[in-house]
Amino acid sequence: MYKEPIFLKPVFQERIWGGQKLQTEYGYNIPFEHTGEAWVISAHPNGPSIIENGSLAGKTLKDAWETHGELFNKQSDNEEAYPLLIKILDANDDLSVQVHPDDTFAREVENVPYGKTECWYVLSAEPGAELVLGHCAKTREELAAMMDNGKWGKLLQRVPVKAGDFYYVPSGTIHAIGKGTVILETQQSSDITYRVYDYDRVNVEGNKRELHLDRAKEVTTVPHKPASSDHITEIHGGLTSEKLVATDYFSVYRWQLNGTANMNMEANFLQVSVISGNAEIMVGDKRYPLKKGVHFVLPYGIGEYKLTGEAEIVASHE
Ligand code: ZN
Repeated sequence: MYKEPIFLKPVFQERIWGGQKLQTEYGYNIPFEHTGEAWVISAHPNGPSIIENGSLAGKTLKDAWETHGELFNKQSDNEEAYPLLIKILDANDDLSVQVHPDDTFAREVENVPYGKTECWYVLSAEPGAELVLGHCAKTREELAAMMDNGKWGKLLQRVPVKAGDFYYVPSGTIHAIGKGTVILETQQSSDITYRVYDYDRVNVEGNKRELHLDRAKEVTTVPHKPASSDHITEIHGGLTSEKLVATDYFSVYRWQLNGTANMNMEANFLQVSVISGNAEIMVGDKRYPLKKGVHFVLPYGIGEYKLTGEAEIVASHE
């Protein structure tokens, strides 16, 4: 049995709205002037994370999923793809307003295994930062008419945002991350986005990015359904765990560690992101240092482990 955490090296994505905070705030050596996304726990073909330690060092998380299914308690060869993807997004400028399909639409129309339900834990937000979440149209006809006529101010719902906020964004929800926010996103492992509105921006060549209004009109939930979730808190010694959301796709927790916690892993595998602080994890008799910006997966069957230190952590599982 593989008895150690699988530490992962992020993959960076250039985006027109990206900035420098993944370097200045998280210490990553970023490759682009406009680095928008760090895919920190990813087995997606468009950017799989590289394993840093152990006998699988140098392989990708995607390789591990495909050739070492036992690490994830993978049930059969029919499971097509690693189900989840964790990103940190640096919105130096507004992201496009967009919507994602559900699993059925993604499989039937896009020929990919998963749609995209996502959720956001806000790591930081500048004063006045906002998100777009939902729309005001009452019928599909009204939605189409407002999109066609560019009535964005009337159509889109805006919400103010601050560090520590959490939002669940099911597939079919119109949304946009606004300028000045840094977000940890837990999502289904999918890269299908239908762009609805891009603020009429042009790139250096003077071109606008493509919109996908027809698909967006098909997949958007009408009327908008606000998502809600009960936050359940549990104490494990020096660790306070707050369940942020539990859905068919994923469960996400915020852990505040102050001291020592003896933990027992029951999930098939657990994804862990250290948001701030310094700590260590002990598995068997081996200790591994943890600090802000470190991401790892605890594989199946790891059983008991111990966390010690002062840290804020976001953890998730299927
Ligand atoms: Zn999205």
